[in-house]
Amino acid sequence: TAAVQDVRLDFPVAEGVVRRPDAERAEVLAAPGFGRHFTDHMARAVWTPAGWGSDAVVAHAPITLSPASAVLHYAQEVFEGLKAYRHEDGSVWAFRPEANARRFAASARRLALPVLPEDAFLRSVEQLVAADLDWVPGGGEDSLYLRPFMFASESFLGVRPSAEVTYLVIASPAGPYFGGGEIRPVSIWLSQEYSRAAPGGTGAAKCGGNYAAGLQAQAEASAHGCDQVAFLDAVEHRWVEELGGMNLFFVLDDGTVVTPELTGTILEGVTRTSVLQIAADLGHDVVERRVDVAEWRDGCASGRVREVFACGTAAVVTPVGALVEPGRRSVPGDGGTGEVTATIRARLTDVQTGRGEDVHGWMHRL
Ligand code: PMP
Repeated sequence: TAAVQDVRLDFPVAEGVVRRPDAERAEVLAAPGFGRHFTDHMARAVWTPAGWGSDAVVAHAPITLSPASAVLHYAQEVFEGLKAYRHEDGSVWAFRPEANARRFAASARRLALPVLPEDAFLRSVEQLVAADLDWVPGGGEDSLYLRPFMFASESFLGVRPSAEVTYLVIASPAGPYFGGGEIRPVSIWLSQEYSRAAPGGTGAAKCGGNYAAGLQAQAEASAHGCDQVAFLDAVEHRWVEELGGMNLFFVLDDGTVVTPELTGTILEGVTRTSVLQIAADLGHDVVERRVDVAEWRDGCASGRVREVFACGTAAVVTPVGALVEPGRRSVPGDGGTGEVTATIRARLTDVQTGRGEDVHGWMHRL
């Protein structure tokens, strides 16, 4: 892995990029969905052993790759996900992009990829959003979802870290992740035979391979009528880790807010960190510790577990209704959206959308 280079990447915006007509953009922004529509530009930089270069904001367009590109064979790739929101006065703000920059660097180290300096990550996001400002939705919780990623683009079939790496940032207007306007509790399938991450593996990194490994379990969840899949630890198959793309929280009957501790096999969500802070601000006792799946199951039955929710950039804070296993459904409370879940969600979205005060300085003006 190369050392962090001391070059300044500026991501200048290329001239002459063709913009989609206003009417087409308006149609997308009226019903953005999630991850289907993309803006006019993308940010790009390329790493070689000489360092980072070729930084620019260019047209969002298909890229050419050699069929021998290492990423297509060995999945040497990492990515990030963050959102930019348009506030009522028209200004555009990213939610905690510094945290994503840090995690991107940590993920890159784990995948033997070069580290993109954190200020270059921020600059790429700023320049891309500046070029695509018209694509940031203007209403409520709609946002521009930003997807920075980095992959092994060297044409070489040997198994070793790639000597050429491409960094891109693409952007996609986003509405609610689970569709529909109302917050609807999601159902969770408890994966029976699959694990997401093992000790010493890549669970704490945001790399594509983790998601590929979870797809079969997610398909199993869908086949059982569930929205999402929950994974237990790979060793004892007993400790609750996280969902395929979200962290989990439990609200106990005495108001304690509990989330599985970071064991090296869980992704440290930016939303998770923020929810821990908000819960503490609201006066809750906040605990990071191991959570036995039996505690989830039995706690629903006994009333000890009052609320369960999941959180992540895409879905923000989403109540969890049922935990579904063969022959058993465990539902906290009345299965609706709990009070603590709703309060934490409102606090977080108020900061993100500019309706509430940003007491922790989480918003970054773009
Ligand atoms: N866990 C996994 C496996 C994820 O993919 C995500 C989404 N990045 C999260 C948790 C939540 O992380 P964040 O709050 O940073 O989006």
